Amino acid sequence: MSTLNARIEEKLYQNRYVVDAGRPHITVKPHDKPSEALKSLVTTCPAGCYSMTEQGKVEIVPDGCMECGTCRVVCAATGDIEWNYPRGGFGVLFKFG
Ligand code: SF4
Repeated sequence: MSTLNARIEEKLYQNRYVVDAGRPHITVKPHDKPSEALKSLVTTCPAGCYSMTEQGKVEIVPDGCMECGTCRVVCAATGDIEWNYPRGGFGVLFKFG
């Protein structure tokens, strides 16, 4: 299969991510019950960073985040998350070739 015809998963696999250990650039604010906006991130984040815990709360592991901003927009009105760009030298490194 040529690069042009590669599946999206294969293209995403070419990206690299530098983890800033102990300093996540996105955090979910403490909550008892997640809002609908926050819950939707479990399925809308293209990198699969959000998940639902057994206690029914939403958590994030931002390793692999592509900085697309989807979660930032979705939760802009609810304020469920704290969103920042990673520090310099950390985060996603896109490979297009
Ligand atoms: S910015 Fe995009 S890739 Fe990163 S956690 Fe939010 S939705 Fe996922």
